[in-house]
Amino acid sequence: MVVTQPNANILDKHVLEAVVAGEMRMTPEQAMTLYHEMPLLELGRWADARCRVLHGDSLRTYVIDRNINYTNVCTAKCTFCAFRRDGDEHDAYTLEYSELLEKIQEISDIGGTQILMQGGMNPELPLEWYIELLTTIRAEYPHIHVHAFSPPEVIEFVNFFDVQGDTLREKVKFVLSKLSEAGLMSLPGGGGEIFAPVVRQKIGLGKCTAEAWLTVMNVAQELGMNTSATMMFGHIEGIADRVHHMDLVRKWQDDAINDFGLDGGGRYYAFISWPFQPDNSPLGRVKEWGTVEEDGDEFPGDAVAQLDGSGTKQDHQEFGRRIRLAGSSSYLRTQALSRLYLDNIYSIGSSWVTMGPAIGQTALFYGANDMGSVMMEENVVSAAGTTWCLNEAKLCRLIREAGFTPAQRNNTYDIINVHDSQESPDLMIKDWSEFDAEKLATQTGCQSSQPESVELTIGQ
Ligand code: SF4
Repeated sequence: MVVTQPNANILDKHVLEAVVAGEMRMTPEQAMTLYHEMPLLELGRWADARCRVLHGDSLRTYVIDRNINYTNVCTAKCTFCAFRRDGDEHDAYTLEYSELLEKIQEISDIGGTQILMQGGMNPELPLEWYIELLTTIRAEYPHIHVHAFSPPEVIEFVNFFDVQGDTLREKVKFVLSKLSEAGLMSLPGGGGEIFAPVVRQKIGLGKCTAEAWLTVMNVAQELGMNTSATMMFGHIEGIADRVHHMDLVRKWQDDAINDFGLDGGGRYYAFISWPFQPDNSPLGRVKEWGTVEEDGDEFPGDAVAQLDGSGTKQDHQEFGRRIRLAGSSSYLRTQALSRLYLDNIYSIGSSWVTMGPAIGQTALFYGANDMGSVMMEENVVSAAGTTWCLNEAKLCRLIREAGFTPAQRNNTYDIINVHDSQESPDLMIKDWSEFDAEKLATQTGCQSSQPESVELTIGQ
């Protein structure tokens, strides 16, 4: 049985051994202590130990899928977003069915198993557009898993369409039931950002509340769909906001397992966190903390953040006017903490797309068991100026050089291909020089010089 011991010293070796064994659950206060007081390498070792309990010592995984951003038209105005457009802007787009299907054909041709389809909140697309699209995909590509529509999109479906139901939950259920019947199989965790209202109201203008986000996921899980959870940090939030965010994911996961687990319901399968990418976004133009002479000792986000999410902007006059970007150390520390804190979440994904291959690989020693997705295009993170391109061979090589055997998985983390032979994608490459010449790609997405290569980005 898992217990909490609020008075236990979380820095004590025996206490952490209980956490690693899954016998003790950390409290938010203990998580704060661990984050602030444990040396990074030590924290990584404990997270790695927990990862090995859950996933063993040999395999580390990835998935081959394609990120399809079907529209960039969006009614929201998230200040961190460089992707959205108003409908009348010259580069606003909505893909035609034929373009979407062509992209699915391409991922199918290279052995892909799923698509991750997300877009802006486009008021011009009726519910029928989505239903016909899903129905067509299911008919033409029954072997492709459709992982699509993050909670903010679903909430906008509820707002835009004439849906049945009196409560938000009933309305979400109406929409998700229709989409599920048409072929939607699971929901990505996009739009999680930071759940604390004071942060969310500042950076996610027009986007759904945390309660609505979590409700959408809960309804999807009730309907039998699995989902992911995400967190985007390293902007205006405090460290306590990150812990509060993880705490909500853990609580709602408990409920999903208790309420639907025995009835074939879904749950959160994975948690992926990544630092905010500042380029080309309004939030990226906010001054970094410490760059202005009057900046005090305490970051405004930390002054405001509360472990129960109750912070208010009145708690610090500079709140929202300074950002604290997360570098590699903060990223690895946060991810390691998530592995130890989220004792009921199966997978922790590395975010090498934002952090680069080297830190992405290092993340495998800080609690991550999964390297995310092999994809053929990326539009959202690249719009914010950061996209690293890796093909399947390079991804396998990163995993193998970290000391693990690379394995391809599907959406439910079943292993479908263990690369332990000489025919493995990385071991087939005799000359890496051409691959190593590939550069960081920005703005235009992952356009590679390698015609056979496959680019990757964050799997949610
Ligand atoms: S992050 Fe998503 S919801 Fe927010 S503005 Fe960008 S596309 Fe719209």
